[in-house]
Amino acid sequence: PIDPNSMFKEGFLKSVYNEKPAEQVVTRFPPEPNGFLHIGHSKAIAINFGFARYHGGVCYLRFDDTNPEAEEEKYFTAIQSIIEWLGFKPFKVTYSSDNFDRLYELAESLIKRDGAYVCHCSDTEIKLQKGGETHGPRYACPHRDRPTDESLAEFRAMRAGKYKPREAFLRMKQDLQDGNPQMWDLAAYRILEAKHHRTGDKWRIYPTYDFTHCLCDSFEDISHSLCTTEFQLSRISYEWLCDAVEIYKPMQREYGRLNVTGTVLSKRKIARLVNEGIVRDWDDPRLFTLIALRRRGIPPGAILSFVNELGVSTALTNIQIVRFEQSVRRYLEQTVPRLMLVLDPIKVIIDDLPEDHYEEVELPFGKDPKMGVHSVPFTKTVYIDRSDFREIDSKDYFRLAPGKSVGLMKVPFPIKATTFEKDDAGLVTVVHATYEKPEEGAAMKKPKTFIHWVADSRERDSPFKVEVRSFNSLFKSENPDAAEGGFIKDINPNSEEIYPNAMIEIGLKEIRSRAPWPEDEGEKDVANKDAGLETVRFQGMRVAYFSMDKDSTGERPVLNRIVGLKEDSGK
Ligand code: ATP
Ligand code: MG
Ligand code: MG
Repeated sequence: PIDPNSMFKEGFLKSVYNEKPAEQVVTRFPPEPNGFLHIGHSKAIAINFGFARYHGGVCYLRFDDTNPEAEEEKYFTAIQSIIEWLGFKPFKVTYSSDNFDRLYELAESLIKRDGAYVCHCSDTEIKLQKGGETHGPRYACPHRDRPTDESLAEFRAMRAGKYKPREAFLRMKQDLQDGNPQMWDLAAYRILEAKHHRTGDKWRIYPTYDFTHCLCDSFEDISHSLCTTEFQLSRISYEWLCDAVEIYKPMQREYGRLNVTGTVLSKRKIARLVNEGIVRDWDDPRLFTLIALRRRGIPPGAILSFVNELGVSTALTNIQIVRFEQSVRRYLEQTVPRLMLVLDPIKVIIDDLPEDHYEEVELPFGKDPKMGVHSVPFTKTVYIDRSDFREIDSKDYFRLAPGKSVGLMKVPFPIKATTFEKDDAGLVTVVHATYEKPEEGAAMKKPKTFIHWVADSRERDSPFKVEVRSFNSLFKSENPDAAEGGFIKDINPNSEEIYPNAMIEIGLKEIRSRAPWPEDEGEKDVANKDAGLETVRFQGMRVAYFSMDKDSTGERPVLNRIVGLKEDSGK
């Protein structure tokens, strides 16, 4: 078992804490509400919420909603629900936009301190001002030296609607001599003719990330502002601005992003997969958005232990999908119950059993006796998987074939195949077998292999028919973006296999009534219900791990294959 807090006990996060052992740890997770979160974000969530929890502090969920053009209501709800699903409860849900008035006041104050000016340069001009090998040294903008009261008047005019977007913006007056581009008079406010989902038409000017983030951190008394390493260079402007307006300065520290290879995570690319009908939607189980992982049946605890296993440092972590799946598999192995499920059934008639033969065999739900047992019927007709039967036997084959016997899991005696029937297409439809019950006093020959099966029993409503969706990698290569013709040309044509006639034993009913599994995840899985998902996960013995998909109906459950039992199985 993995200690869910080991990442806070040593290494990067420990040293961050040691630098500033705060009496009250306060962190924040600050997503932009412009898309669904993906597996990479789970690291940021685990770090920020986990760090606070570990040190007895609190963590805000702060929507960084300063870009009204890209924001949509549905993302706010989706983000909140997925955080809850991961098992975290924000101390408070806040919005950068709640601070628009206060930010505006600080902008005026910065101008008055000669720390900002209104600039009218075009994008091209600004690029030139930054200097570079091809266009000479860095130089100051002509507006930089305008009097502060002129900038103040112009800033108010920007707010009042005198200018169109791009005609004016507020720039911080930093240090052009500094080697760090984050000190080259960054934009603080820009004009956007967009209605904001919370402040409506009140504002025509919106603060930038560089202006907003550090000040909102300060307003919320964030003790440790943890972000990804792309913001390493921004630490200087973060600190510069807090100092310039003389307010409390939180400590920013940067950790490495989590990247998963063999898939795409960018919003634009996933949008294209959805729009072109390559996947069902943003929650298609082949994707690595968090709503997709949830739909596929990955338990939230497995995602957290994966992040914890990887540990945290400043290095970028590139992880292959198989490595993630290993981690999920280890987690499921220890937590979910076992059932018998047949993906592609063939009927087996045990000819020498009486028509009405009925007995019950007891099946444990797992190795751990605490998981309990259940009974399933055993009758004259059973179904086994097509892959467990061969028309022609061979010496090195140990499952069912004419003349060969095999054990049915937990059934007292083996069965031996005699003959079989085929349809016009040459597909085996029925296998005939005999029950190998030894004569009184004779010893039973123990079969080499036991296979899974489900019985035909009308009394017990067995089997349940289900549709199974088995997923393989959505892309053929490890780096879809580098594929010739781009990621869209790298789609794996066999990324989904459907088994429309799969059958499952009656234990499904019981595990549905006892869900969620693992039981201690009950609270987190409340969020599954909101998403229309029933939290049912199990191991189909000898097959794979499965969950119940949201496309399930009363008559027809749809199961998702979460991961195989071993690496590569099912591919
Ligand atoms: P993307 O570029 O994938 O859209 P983002 O950084 O723009 O992601 P935000 O909504 O700003 O998305 O992310 C919220 C928080 O999650 C930020 O603190 C960001 O640094 C962090 N985060 C985003 N992606 C990752 C990742 N791959 N690994 C770890 N943390 C991440
Ligand atoms: Mg961002
Ligand atoms: Mg973004």
